[in-house]
Amino acid sequence: MPKFYLNIAVDTPLHRIFDYLPIAHSNRDTYAIGQRVIVSFGRQQKTGVILAISSETTLSNKQLKPISELLDNKPLLCEQDIALYKWASDYYHHPIGEVFAQALPKQVRSTKSPTVTLATLYSLSKEGDDLHESDLKRSPRQAALWKQLQQFNNPVASDVFAELGWDWRSPLKSMVEKSWVTVSQEHVAATHQIQSPSFTPNPAQQTAIDAIAHAQDCFQTFLLDGVTGSGKTEVYLQTIQKIITTGKQVLILLPEITLTPQLAKRFKQRLAAQMVISHSGLNDTQRAQAWLRLKEGFASILLGTRSAVFTPMKNPGLIILDEEHDSSFKQQEGFRYSARDIAIMRARNYGIPIVLGTATPSLESLYNVQTQRFTQLVLTERTAGASQPDIRLIDCRNQQLNNHLSKPLIKAITKTLERGEQVILFVNRRGFAPVMMCHGCGWVGQCRRCDSRMVVHKHINLLRCHHCGDEHAIPTNCPDCQQPELFPLGLGTQRIEETLSTLFPHTPITRIDRDSTRRKDAMQTVIDKVHEGDAQILVGTQMLAKGHHFPNVTLVGMADIDAGLFSCDFRASERMAQLITQVSGRAGREQKAGRVLIQTHHPDHPLLNTLIQRGYSNFAADALSERQQAQLPPYHYQALLRVNAIDENDILSFLNEVMQLITPSSQQDINVLGPVPAPMLKRAGRFRYQILFESAQRKPLHQFLRTILPAIEKLKTARRIRWSIDIDPVDLY
Ligand code: ADP
Ligand code: ZN
Ligand code: ZN
Repeated sequence: MPKFYLNIAVDTPLHRIFDYLPIAHSNRDTYAIGQRVIVSFGRQQKTGVILAISSETTLSNKQLKPISELLDNKPLLCEQDIALYKWASDYYHHPIGEVFAQALPKQVRSTKSPTVTLATLYSLSKEGDDLHESDLKRSPRQAALWKQLQQFNNPVASDVFAELGWDWRSPLKSMVEKSWVTVSQEHVAATHQIQSPSFTPNPAQQTAIDAIAHAQDCFQTFLLDGVTGSGKTEVYLQTIQKIITTGKQVLILLPEITLTPQLAKRFKQRLAAQMVISHSGLNDTQRAQAWLRLKEGFASILLGTRSAVFTPMKNPGLIILDEEHDSSFKQQEGFRYSARDIAIMRARNYGIPIVLGTATPSLESLYNVQTQRFTQLVLTERTAGASQPDIRLIDCRNQQLNNHLSKPLIKAITKTLERGEQVILFVNRRGFAPVMMCHGCGWVGQCRRCDSRMVVHKHINLLRCHHCGDEHAIPTNCPDCQQPELFPLGLGTQRIEETLSTLFPHTPITRIDRDSTRRKDAMQTVIDKVHEGDAQILVGTQMLAKGHHFPNVTLVGMADIDAGLFSCDFRASERMAQLITQVSGRAGREQKAGRVLIQTHHPDHPLLNTLIQRGYSNFAADALSERQQAQLPPYHYQALLRVNAIDENDILSFLNEVMQLITPSSQQDINVLGPVPAPMLKRAGRFRYQILFESAQRKPLHQFLRTILPAIEKLKTARRIRWSIDIDPVDLY
């Protein structure tokens, strides 16, 4: 019998592929690339994926072990998916086994032959529908189920009963036995009624829709650059409709917090197709099912967040990535991939178009437009007669502030509320105040484990570190000088909320930040409340800036943006400009005109002035030429080596060895910046250092990394520290 070996990507942090023997007496035909296996690895059993079958190995017979189990009869992954994951492993210099683990949902990773489970659906029969509530008086549980089912025209899955909070199975069974409820199997074809829009696309929208449709069946990247409220979502909807009628699938990626049930509903109402959703709020089964449904072709549309970018498509037609500038598309730990860049690579492999939508394009994408890698489609006007908001600065220098709010801002809020309209007040920080200070000696509350200050959370009487989560009670006396004169310094959302509730005691105030929306569905409750109410104030962090459409908001105030103007991160000004533009975009989305008031102590700051007088696109053009002069991304390429350890000396000896590996010949065309302590030297009890590698070209940088990273992996000193490499880092902290 000819001998053969299985080359397997095993879920471990090692940068290599492992050879295993097949199961004893099994045939070569049994195995195929893309099947998953279980192998013994050290003392553990781990999942792996067959990447190749070869007739040679460098290992001796004694070193070789057979695989423990074959999980798939048919390959779970096709060659094209595997090629993408291999590319990602190569490009991000991340262990291939971990890339596979990331790409597969948890429940798919190690289950044997996972399959789509079609749901059982329930609906009221004619008889059931004719019942009256009084007929069910004596069985309150059946009455409750009956009420639930009455709300729907179509058969529904049992999920709708989950919120009842009790076991619905036996009362439902009785209702089925009495023929009040009909049971059916989920159909794969769409059954629901779709709504058509009451308007036709405007010329700019139509041009965009046509351009994307024209690119069907070939790879092209579109940057759909449209101001907030210009009808980008409408362009997506109409384009998707065109694609799915040809029988193809669409993958739509969104930042986590913009994927709200409302948006999903809007898509569902408009599109005649099976749609599945995938985000971190779902359980493992739901995510695995969404993944399988797209892969097997049971669904035509997947609406998902970052990690959905890896979902295989049976019949790919289009990829859409909304809010492309959003930094949440970059994973910031472990496998540090950019979902945007992977999505583009996927579209290219599949030979299909991809649309990147945003009101505030990233500088990377604008550069790609300049170099003609992307095609720009512009929507300059807001739809349906809405106009762009009027943005003004409030010069706060020498002004008397009422708890951080200026007189003109308070007056504008009062007027807006009097008209029955809503106000958004944007504050960059959650909590009550960013720091607690002693009036006697200047002591400030520092985190023991991080180089950062503890944020004051007054309502729960805690000082809490937003970096490591450490917390303790607010001291009554200063720990240094024992004086009882501690005061909160600066402002956070809770402080502004408190100030506003004394200024406007009869107006409902809603706070939207990570603290107030921690509970599941909390965000949805808040959004519903805003839509129902008349005069209201919304106080919130950047969570408010994204995607939401609140038609009755006509005033947006920004209380403190100054801190963001003076960051040492070269990307800070881009982010600040995007944030201001996005938050401003919440004002006046329909007929009522919108106003934006920005409080600042730096009314002459160039960023603010360019942005307000000449708009985001001119700001971005200026920022790009600054980047070019400074030799920064997107003109240059970067990779960041991060190191952390409890003992600073371990880091220093490791870095010393790393620097010795870098010889003049290995670093041709590469600049090595560092090693230096990270801007936040200590975090969660660990010291942090970094080295930045950069180059005018991508190729030599990656070539350099390919030689140096395996050498770093072998260093003895590497065992005492943790290190990682971040390709195209978006955050140098
Ligand atoms: P964006 O995604 O750019 O923020 P949306 O697509 O959500 O914008 O559109 C904003 C609002 O305008 C929505 O209520 C949408 O239904 C409506 N709309 C979109 N296109 C048109 C149009 N051509 N005419 C009238 N209303 C439109
Ligand atoms: Zn003191
Ligand atoms: Zn901390």
